[in-house]
This record gives sequence, structure tokens and C-alpha cells, in this order.
Amino acid sequence: MNNFEYISGSLFCEDVDLLAVANEYGTPAYVYSKDAIIKNAKSYVDSFTNSTSLACFAVKSLSNLFILKIINDSGCGFDIVSGGELQRVLSVGADPQKIIFSGVGKSKEEIKEAIENKILSFNVESVSELYKIENIAKELDAIASISIRINPDIDSGGHDYITTGRKGDKFGISSTEDILSLCKHASSSSNLKLVGLACHIGSQIMSLDGYEKSANKIFELADKLLELGISLEFLDMGGGLGVSYEDENPPSPKELIALLENKFLERNERLILEPGRSISANTGVLLTKVEFIKENFLIVDAAMNDLLRPALYKAVHTISNLKDDQKNLKRWNVVGPVCESSDFLGKNVELEAVEGDILAIRNVGAYGFVMASNYNSRLRPCEILIDGDKTKIVRKRESMDDLLALERFTDD
Ligand SMILES: *Cc1c(COP(=O)(O)O)cnc(C)c1O
Repeated sequence: MNNFEYISGSLFCEDVDLLAVANEYGTPAYVYSKDAIIKNAKSYVDSFTNSTSLACFAVKSLSNLFILKIINDSGCGFDIVSGGELQRVLSVGADPQKIIFSGVGKSKEEIKEAIENKILSFNVESVSELYKIENIAKELDAIASISIRINPDIDSGGHDYITTGRKGDKFGISSTEDILSLCKHASSSSNLKLVGLACHIGSQIMSLDGYEKSANKIFELADKLLELGISLEFLDMGGGLGVSYEDENPPSPKELIALLENKFLERNERLILEPGRSISANTGVLLTKVEFIKENFLIVDAAMNDLLRPALYKAVHTISNLKDDQKNLKRWNVVGPVCESSDFLGKNVELEAVEGDILAIRNVGAYGFVMASNYNSRLRPCEILIDGDKTKIVRKRESMDDLLALERFTDD
């Protein structure tokens, strides 16, 4: 199942020894398994029994072009949150009719570009946004397809920073009155086409209850619209399915889809999902070298700028030594070189390690490289894709030239 496994004492990704990868390409380095990406994308695509159902991969979780291409070829659409992500997915050949545009702060330029490319739908997140899209569509003499993102007021559990479906979260529209009047307005507008309702209640969700409840809420609204003579093409139940970082036991995409497709049986709308983490998380590791050992600190060459999740969410990632000796286990705080106390990658991690060893921080495919920054003028790591026994650089390690390119002194 997992494509990162020890083979005679060394951690492999597919058929490649990760120590050889670290030696050849240096550290820190993100390494992904192509086979894992395909398996995870297919775990959605192949679980659908209704041919109209669609999984739109949340690009913000992992947006490397080579990986988006694999996910596109596996039959997924895309959920994007910016014009930049739109360009990424179009450049790998995504079908615009499989692109959903989410996000609370879409700019005029972004809206224009998405209308011109005829995407499947904007998930509208506020009253003002709907009027803004309508005006831009009017200027372009076009029709923009939209769905309304509702805030179902459901607490999906998890870290405060990743729940999105409660009243008081900034996402979606909560008032039923606002939703209904926007839908009425949209369906009578000559520049808007109302195609759906959407919700997305959070991330790292460990139970199907929240999906069941939000489906019921969204059905209630869709039925109210039907009474008003407004029918929809799809209902988008968002993403958020959890993954196992340590030993959690989340429901599978297959279980989620079975529940939802069963609930959708009596309905005419198609089912759309927006999975991110559950496709990308377990496909990648971050390789990092132990530079120094001091007291109970392993000081490594990766830092919070390379992997922000521990600092940002107190996220816990399993950390393994590429050599599976495990004789002198000790408890370590794994920290990076950045000058912040929040610069840690793991706390109280049980490992055997000596200076020079290479560690793998596991399950970092989602919200890993995409959140990397240049804080402390550190160069962002390279990204490497493994396919069987083949190794390919899919993003070069940044150079100091890359970093300084935008701040060259000019003569005037
Ligand atoms: C981030 C996001 C997703 C993906 O969430 P995951 O937890 O990674 O599955 C889906 N839809 C929207 C609107 C999002 O913002």
C-alpha cells in the first residue's frame, strides 16, 4: 500500500534507495512516488459508480506541474484558488470544464481569465463576489458559470486553523436568506449561469458524519431552490478527508464516495468532490541531513521554511532514519537552522541518529513544498519524482541567482 518502505535496512521509494537520492541531489529534498500519486487519484476516480461524478484535486496542496499532469491523466479535475493555479492546470492540459475556482478574495484579473477560459464554475464565497463576477462577465459580454459556496455551520473537528465550515469562519455564505436571494438573482441574470451549490467544511476530517450532515444541509437548500423553479447541475461536497500521519484511521475515499453517491441516488444533480490532502499527503517525503547533535536536539538542514506545517499547525509528522538500525533509540527534538523557536520539524521523536545521517520526514506531499518560503534567505529545496527505478528532478533546487533576480541594483 505505502510506497516508502524499508528493504534490507534502507528506506526505499518504489525501487529507489533514498540514500542514493540524497547523495546524488543533496538535501533538503522533496521526493515523491509517482505510483502513489496515481493510486491515490484513482482511489477517487475508480470509486465513482456514477459516471457524472467528478473529483477536482485541490491544487493548493501540491502544485508541481509534473505531478498535476499525472493527476490530470488519472482522470481528476482541479479545484483552484488563484489565477496562478489556473495557469498551472491549463498548462498541463486540464479540461476547463473540470475546473472549479474557490477562494474568498478573487481579483478582477483572475475572474476575467477564468471566464475567458470557460471553467466549469466559480465557487462564489460572498454577496459582493457574485456582483463582481456578474459585472466582469457583462464587460466581457460573456456568461459566467457559478455555484454558491454555503457555510453549513458544521464543526468538522481538527485544528482551529483548518476548520472552515463553522459560522464565524471566513468561508462561504451562512445566511439561507442571502443564499436564496443570490440564487434567484443569478438565475435571472443574463451574464450568470447558476450551476451548483458547494461546501467545504475543513481538513484532516476523521469521520464521515460531517459529510453526511453537510449533504443534508445542501439537499435542503437545493430542494428550496427546486420549489422556486431553479434546478442545479451539481452539488460540490468539498474536500477535507483526513490521512494517517501517525496511526490515525481515516475513512477511505471509497467509503466517502459510497456514502455520498448513495445519498445522491434519488437526486438529479451530479456529485463533485475537491480532495487535496487525501490524494497528495502520503506521496512525498522530505529528506534532510543531521548537521549537528546538541543535547537532545538533532539540528538538521531542513527548516520551517521548507516544511511549515509543524510550526504553523503543530502538525506531527513521522520522522525516520533512512538506515533502519534502531538499536540506540533516543528521544530528540528535530530542529532546523532558522532563527525562530517555532522552527521545529518534530518534537520528542524516537530515533537513532548520528551526525551525517539522513532522515525522512514522512507524509509531506500535501501542504509541504507549496508552503515553502525563502525566510532567512534559504533556497527552496528541489523536488524529485520516482517512477519505478527511475529518478527525475521535477523542480530544481533554487540558486542564489534565482533568489536575487528581482532585486538587482540598476543605475538610476
Ligand atoms: C483546501 C481546500 C480543499 C482541499 O482540502 P484538503 O483538506 O486538502 O482535502 C478543497 N476545497 C477547498 C475550497 C479548499 O480551500
